[in-house]
Amino acid sequence: MTTTVLPSYEDAVSRYEPVIGLETHVELGTATKMFCGCRTDFGAEPNTQVCPVCLALPGALPVANRAGIEATIRIGLALNCDIATWCRMARKNYFYPDMPKNFQTSQYDEPLCTDGYVDVEFDGKTYRIGIERVHLEEDTGKTLHVGGATGRIHGATESLVDYNRAGIPLVEIVTKPVPGLGALAPEVARAYVTELRDIIRSLGVSDVRMEQGSLRCDVNTSLNKPGEEWGTRTETKNVNSLRSVERAVRSEIIRQTSVLDEGGRIVQETRHFHEDRGDTSPGRSKETATDYRYFPEPDLVPIAPDPAWVAELKAALPERPSAKRARLSEEWGISAIDMQSVANAGAVELIEETIAAGASPAGARKWWMGELARRANETGVELADVGATPAQVAALQKLVDEGKLNDKLARTVLEGVVAGEGDPAEVMAARGLEVVSDTGALTAAVDEAIAANPDIAAKIRDGKVAAAGALVGAVMKTTRGQADAKSVRELILQRLS
Ligand SMILES: [Zn+2]
Repeated sequence: MTTTVLPSYEDAVSRYEPVIGLETHVELGTATKMFCGCRTDFGAEPNTQVCPVCLALPGALPVANRAGIEATIRIGLALNCDIATWCRMARKNYFYPDMPKNFQTSQYDEPLCTDGYVDVEFDGKTYRIGIERVHLEEDTGKTLHVGGATGRIHGATESLVDYNRAGIPLVEIVTKPVPGLGALAPEVARAYVTELRDIIRSLGVSDVRMEQGSLRCDVNTSLNKPGEEWGTRTETKNVNSLRSVERAVRSEIIRQTSVLDEGGRIVQETRHFHEDRGDTSPGRSKETATDYRYFPEPDLVPIAPDPAWVAELKAALPERPSAKRARLSEEWGISAIDMQSVANAGAVELIEETIAAGASPAGARKWWMGELARRANETGVELADVGATPAQVAALQKLVDEGKLNDKLARTVLEGVVAGEGDPAEVMAARGLEVVSDTGALTAAVDEAIAANPDIAAKIRDGKVAAAGALVGAVMKTTRGQADAKSVRELILQRLS
């Protein structure tokens, strides 16, 4: 058996041109399911949010959820799509145990939104990604394989099905094929999903959390030699982090290059991305549309959005995230690159709210992008869930501005806030962390330090002001860090002048 040596990425993209395409599923945050009144709460006990409609009991009839249709139209409008004036849902027929109807209610040749685009910025350049379609469908249930070591079906003793998720509205966003990106294809793919996530988040129609599966991405990749026709594409399924989007495209480019170099043929198939290894393995060979025997859903009336309503929804769209970032970077006085890291950290709204609660832009950004971002990273939670609110961060910064806390004490107070000990003022009082502002106590501490260090005091008297640092250190020690270093220094120089 020979071992294949994979080409380097640089080598691969110097000889082949990638064409990518992305299919993104977004779980909508509606209170109830798409075709019945069942709740959609995440993490509920299995099979407690089900009814005859989403379990597909005989005779049960679906009714479309207006909120799901409205959210889909708003997504389409935000992606510059045309909105259909009349369209139908369709049945996509296939068998899977977590899909009780044996078909998925979806859309086929009559999607709700078509022919849009989204402008994606990467490294100072703008790339326009075409949107083929945005359509509405429903999610499936979830199968759990238990009794085995891996949670996969192989080795499991039994499989359980939870239908809570069955029937939750899903929106599928399909790009047109994107050629011409060359070596930047992985990064632009990631930038696209990031932008899409930000746009959908700004609409408030989904929490778009990749790690919880409310945003899921399938990545299509093909390669061709310059000047030749596009190659056969593969579809890498359920890539569930932004970083993985980039890695999935990159690893597929390398793998396909290796196959083509050896005179092989790319098979149209779905592939699974392995987070741990950073590469893909084959799944099933890809069905074509005819395998699904699509036909119009006879139990649902056609969807015919009133153009006046669509115009209203369009007029009420929120500010585009890219325009908002440009405006805020100016208001906050930071560069576009710094603004991008704020956006990537999911901190834009948090910083905005902290400023609204009274903090300066620099003060607000410092805590969210520093201490709190580090903590979120370490504990693997979203920044918004880190345990501090914008109001608390603003209150903390206020205590610093008023001189009641220095930087070091403020960090300790923030720890207490995150640990649920209360608001900054409460934590400060409970833990006795306030800066010593009593001039009498501070003067006493300074005099004590001068008396204990006569040599240093003499140097300062001789004009060697730099030596004051050692005395500041001594005072900070006796006050357990609870003095304002700047005031201490001024006081020392004043006493020794
Ligand atoms: Zn139901």
